[in-house]
Amino acid sequence: MSEITSEQVLEALKTIKDPDKGENIVELGMISGLQIKEGHVAFGIEVEADRGPKLEPLRKQAEKAVHSLSGILTVTAVLTAEREPTKQEQPAGNNVNPGPATFQKMDLLGIDSVIAVASGKGGVGKSTTAVNLALAMASNGKKIGLLDADIYGPSIPLMLGIDKKPSQTQSGLIAPLENHGIKCMSIGFLIEENTAMIWRGPMATGALEQLIKDVAWGELDCLVIDLPPGTGDIHLTMAQRIPLTGAVIVSTPQDVALIDARKGLNMFQKVEIPVFGLIENMSYFNCPHCGKRSEIFSHGGARKEAEKMGMDFLGEIPLDISIRETSDGGNPIVASDPSSPHSLSYIQIANNIWSKIK
Ligand code: ADP
Repeated sequence: MSEITSEQVLEALKTIKDPDKGENIVELGMISGLQIKEGHVAFGIEVEADRGPKLEPLRKQAEKAVHSLSGILTVTAVLTAEREPTKQEQPAGNNVNPGPATFQKMDLLGIDSVIAVASGKGGVGKSTTAVNLALAMASNGKKIGLLDADIYGPSIPLMLGIDKKPSQTQSGLIAPLENHGIKCMSIGFLIEENTAMIWRGPMATGALEQLIKDVAWGELDCLVIDLPPGTGDIHLTMAQRIPLTGAVIVSTPQDVALIDARKGLNMFQKVEIPVFGLIENMSYFNCPHCGKRSEIFSHGGARKEAEKMGMDFLGEIPLDISIRETSDGGNPIVASDPSSPHSLSYIQIANNIWSKIK
């Protein structure tokens, strides 16, 4: 089936009128950031902040209108408003746009716990850690879903060796993809690769919410979310809207990474989400040739920093070529070599996290 066009989407949206202004929402210039990818449609509806709460029915009507087009798998419409945050929503010292007017936590049916894997900056191995931790939890007999919310570089399907696209179930939900015993969904399925999409907090949160509630996850003991790196408004909005049981922060041991990890901790604390602890990735290097261990990034920094910050230290993972090759090759080490020392480290960290979930 050929891809739906933006003209078709806008035509459908023209049937929706702004209840206060009487004109349709397209003519009024309220539609922003329209994205279409393989049957997934996302857009924002710009509204004045004070009208936000009462325009929820309009948002639903807009989603319904687009959903009625043929070939549509999912539709995410979010109300977006530029406005001054109230004192209560504005975390002290953090200049962020709080996004939509209300931050009610969404309901999660059948999902017992949600863990965010976060990092203050990119490239520290957050996704690799998220994948291996999810697999480690599954290896203990848990039902695990892994949601790739890294809008800057969604890589989880690749790491799980998934090259299929999601399809629709009979009940109209999206069927998650599955490999190595875990269910997976990625925000990358909703956006074109290499598009210069500027995500705003509400938009990213809307897409993430959809990936939670419109996906047939079934019963899960835990949904692991690979968050985008950083601590900006997108993270804050996600953290406020998604009912996270807790977060773990991945960092390399150098000072620069640890400064960002501290920002991550502050962010979760501001929105009262428990931080279960810090994981040191690329902790030390095992040379595959001489067998010697080198502490490239001054090993142990994360443990010390965690102590200073009053946060638990969950464990360390070395920089090892087998970790990179296996996860980049779609067969992460916990799945491909579950009894290796690195896999046992991931399993130990997963157990530490699990004891905190309980
Ligand atoms: P992030 O999600 O923080 O951007 P990734 O998980 O994508 O980082 O990792 C970046 C790169 O580093 C990937 O190629 C990955 O395979 C590699 N990598 C991550 N952790 C390790 C590790 N412990 N040992 C070796 N390579 C690693």
